[in-house]
Amino acid sequence: MSSEEVIEIHQSIPGVVLTAENKCSYCETSKCCTYITIEIDKPKKRSDFDELLWQVAHKNISFYKDEDGWFMNVEAVCEQLQDDGRCGIHETRPMVCRDYSNDFCELDESAEQHFELHFTNYDEMLAYCRKRFKNWDKKWQKKWDKK
Ligand code: SF4
Ligand code: SF4
Repeated sequence: MSSEEVIEIHQSIPGVVLTAENKCSYCETSKCCTYITIEIDKPKKRSDFDELLWQVAHKNISFYKDEDGWFMNVEAVCEQLQDDGRCGIHETRPMVCRDYSNDFCELDESAEQHFELHFTNYDEMLAYCRKRFKNWDKKWQKKWDKK
């Protein structure tokens, strides 16, 4: 279920006004606890993109670029997330979780809306490489010719 769908469902609950105080208890996906992001160096060369191709070929790995730079996204539900959506280590949760504000979070708007580039699989990344670099596919030929 997408974040947009969740918002729709919650907005349709009669008499419920979502606030920063109550919204997490109405959030069915706890989206913010289901992935991690890692900032990466801006890829420039063919070899940089070749590395990304290798990584994005793996399950649950995607990449995006937004106004803050390039990021690897790993879909991985936090093991501390309880079935009822609560954090199992609330008192000792990491600082990054404490600093995360729910004032305007992914229950309000999906992060994807702000992505300038988004690669969710190998084929999408490969298509981008072919567009960005002339004769992208020939690099394989050159490499094999040397052997
Ligand atoms: S911060 Fe937002 S996405 Fe995370 S649990 Fe609360 S409402 Fe859901
Ligand atoms: S430690 Fe708690 S708040 Fe942080 S990601 Fe895991 S479940 Fe969410």
